[in-house]
Amino acid sequence: MKNNNNTHKEKLVSAKKHLGQHFLTDLNISKKIAESLISNTKNILEIGPGMGVLTQFLLESKANVQVCEIDSESVEYLQNNFPQLNGKIIQGDFLKLELEKLFTEQVSIIGNFPYNISSQILFKALDYKELIPELVGMFQKEVAERVVAEHGNKTYGILSVLLQAYYDAEYLFTVHENVFNPPPKVKSAVIRLTRKENTDFINRKLLFSIVKTAFNQRRKKLSNALKSLTIPKSLESHNFLNLRAEQLSVNDFIELTKIWEDGKTKSD
Ligand code: SAH
Repeated sequence: MKNNNNTHKEKLVSAKKHLGQHFLTDLNISKKIAESLISNTKNILEIGPGMGVLTQFLLESKANVQVCEIDSESVEYLQNNFPQLNGKIIQGDFLKLELEKLFTEQVSIIGNFPYNISSQILFKALDYKELIPELVGMFQKEVAERVVAEHGNKTYGILSVLLQAYYDAEYLFTVHENVFNPPPKVKSAVIRLTRKENTDFINRKLLFSIVKTAFNQRRKKLSNALKSLTIPKSLESHNFLNLRAEQLSVNDFIELTKIWEDGKTKSD
């Protein structure tokens, strides 16, 4: 938290539970998170900067840094302490931002995210994947584990498959609760998502509906779990259908989607 040669005592932002505010107090960890962005994108958007503990390190890079913060008290703090952010603070709810209007160029996303909306942030990033080459974020450890989980793992699910279809997902490091003020009840972890090349061939809508439907009944074989989607004939005897959702790798799901799409076109 930079002082900006301010002679009066700074008033700190009071932590609001409903906004998921847990302020990071360890500058080494903060720096490590900022350095985890490696793609050198010209634009960086930080979600939920709070009092700028992460922002200050981002501002040391050459990138154009913008921040999105919903809390007016935090926005005021940032305005008073980070003159470099003048005109670069988007005050509002990240989940409501029309990113395509705000960014015409690629933008990487970073944040110590509010945990109450972490999955929604990830799904939103996925909606805008064409715009977002990289995302580094701190999540509750359990969500981070779900994002990077591989098939066969209990935590492997919708979030894992859909994100990993389009991004390489890495679990970077675990963060202990006592480096936050106030400390959260759970451990945290930082992950990095790096967009994959050549994913345009995937029928995204179909992949989403197959994956969501399959995991909604994760104990059932796909032949049963996917019945409501009308399985194309070409797939009926495929071995994938004898498996449960968690037994299929991300590539299996992509292949299944491809065969499904081809089968549908043929029967049309
Ligand atoms: N990055 C800071 C604060 C993390 S706490 C730090 O590491 O110390 C999470 C932050 O996200 C808070 O500042 C909170 O006000 C903000 N936030 C919560 N919901 C938000 C939303 N929907 N859109 C943007 N910011 C949000």
